[in-house]
Amino acid sequence: MINVTKSYLPDLDEYTTYLKGIWERVHLTNDGPLVRELEDQLRDYLGVKYLKFCTNGTIVLQLALKALDITKEVITTPFSYVATTNALLWEGCTPIFADIRPDDFNIDPDKIEALITENTQAIMATHVYGNACRIEQIQAIADKFNLKVIYDAAHTFGARYNGQSILSYGDLSTCSFHATKVFHTVEGGCIVTNDSDMAEKLHNFRSFGHKNDTYFSIGINAKNSEFHAAMGLCMLPKVPELIAARKMRFEFYDRQLDFTKIYRPSILPGVDYNYAYYPVVFDSEETLLRVMDALKVDHIMPRRYFYPSLNTLDFTFAPGSATAQPCPVSEDVALRVLCLPLYPDLAETDVNRIASIVNMVVASVPEIV
Ligand SMILES: *Cc1c(COP(=O)(O)O)cnc(C)c1O
Repeated sequence: MINVTKSYLPDLDEYTTYLKGIWERVHLTNDGPLVRELEDQLRDYLGVKYLKFCTNGTIVLQLALKALDITKEVITTPFSYVATTNALLWEGCTPIFADIRPDDFNIDPDKIEALITENTQAIMATHVYGNACRIEQIQAIADKFNLKVIYDAAHTFGARYNGQSILSYGDLSTCSFHATKVFHTVEGGCIVTNDSDMAEKLHNFRSFGHKNDTYFSIGINAKNSEFHAAMGLCMLPKVPELIAARKMRFEFYDRQLDFTKIYRPSILPGVDYNYAYYPVVFDSEETLLRVMDALKVDHIMPRRYFYPSLNTLDFTFAPGSATAQPCPVSEDVALRVLCLPLYPDLAETDVNRIASIVNMVVASVPEIV
């Protein structure tokens, strides 16, 4: 069986060496030495100023909203994993969906301004598939209307824009270290800021809002454990070679697929990509379903990602409204996009096999221009 992704696992002996240290220290969680070591190494690797290692890529979105005091309307993307919208709703904010660009499926900055009201406090955008949003344009709108910018950068580990980690942009930027991501700690995530006071605030928020007997604020439990940090420490040195292996498979697909019938979203100039996903777009949902059926016969499981468009989920409708906020581009793309299997040890023969099945199914559909 070939799944859309396969988690990387480090050498077991290497992980066991870290476990022995944990057994000696009996310091299992609460800002332990491995958590601190991982945070230091991540800061160095990513070249970011402050970074807090947390339990997952969803709670860090919630921390971002709390830390910036966002409680009202947030302009966000309908084309993301549901966690982006859920974080907003869970924190009592109102998601206002701006449609996406048809070329790369990131939020369309030209759609944002018309949605701004006196209740708008922030823009929360996702760098879809690890490709950067139109960062300068979004920042210009935020500056003009005095809005905060939060990036769900869950896909961007190891990706850079204009020579800097994509995680370094926005007021706050978050990443997921879930087992399916380019870099993982089994479960985990981080939040990145350039501001030392904000870093301190997030540090306190992450551990119930207090240090020993000093209580600073409300807080939550978002700190991660020594066991998870150990996985990250084993994995981080391997990231460059894992990304290189992804790139090689990505380029195999590029060579093997027949692009007269399908296309893949573009990557913004200036992005040094991490090859997190291999999305392809078909002419119709019908073709996509036929491709999925054909792959399934060979036990190949791609993933509809993202699907459905988040604005169409009834719990995301504007308060008091019985219908979706319209986002025609996102609704259309979500029906037609499929992520093909991509992971560092996917065999070249499997890439060829997947590509020929896709080519065979789409051979009968009209060319797209
Ligand atoms: C994976 C993902 C998340 C959620 O991260 P978890 O660590 O699984 O909580 C949020 N947003 C996007 C875009 C993701 O891909």
